Amino acid sequence: MLFLKQTPTPQRTNLMPECKLCLEKVDKLCNSHIIPEFFYKPIYNDQHKLFPIDLNKIKINKIQKGLREYLLCKSCESKFNRYENVVNKIIYTDKLTSERDEPFFIINDFDYHKFRFFQLSILWRIGVSSLSMFSDVKLGPHLEILRNSLSEERLCPYNQYGCILTACRHEGKHKIDFIDSPEKLSIIGGHKAYRLVFGGFVWTFVVSSKNHPIHETYEYMFLRPSHLLIFNKEIKDMEFINEIAPDFKKILDENPGLYK
Ligand SMILES: [Zn+2]
Repeated sequence: MLFLKQTPTPQRTNLMPECKLCLEKVDKLCNSHIIPEFFYKPIYNDQHKLFPIDLNKIKINKIQKGLREYLLCKSCESKFNRYENVVNKIIYTDKLTSERDEPFFIINDFDYHKFRFFQLSILWRIGVSSLSMFSDVKLGPHLEILRNSLSEERLCPYNQYGCILTACRHEGKHKIDFIDSPEKLSIIGGHKAYRLVFGGFVWTFVVSSKNHPIHETYEYMFLRPSHLLIFNKEIKDMEFINEIAPDFKKILDENPGLYK
């Protein structure tokens, strides 16, 4: 009996798309979300159209089904989904969406590894994406460091590509029903930082590296293995990070009860 050769011919391999994360050639790539879909759910209207609204309420665009791109093989896509499920559960619990008055709060009981991989995956996705919305994101050599970290599931230290998380409030209420234009470049502690608004949170990614670490005063604001710190700010006061960083360690030291 004649069996067909199972391995692909070289010509076919050349035509096959490559997963941007694991670099394996596959038959088909998944149409992956750059920003996971569950973050869009609160703002889909009846026709399943999305209305991203920027902080100044100047422009309103319609985007169907979020922002997608053919990026990942099935295996990498499901790896990212596992991170997303964990984050979805943590940040949409009553604990976070209820009305809170504190300027910041801390969660100790969470899956640090998955939360952190999720954050790194978002930074990598906006860096690798060819969608025009992310064309200003320029990660240079950091992109390959992030890809290695994610494909091998080896975490970077918490202060490398650290992320500062802020719940957006408007007139005292947590606003989960808007999304900002996908990225804004700012400078945090002298480092390039990308600010994304989705799911009612501002995610500020600071592109500091091993060779150029961020000043330690900022490190207290990042997601750390011991805690998930979430600032709680009015939408109009989002430019607060550089202002409070010098005193933030002092604030934490004076409130030891915050670390349970
Ligand atoms: Zn892959």
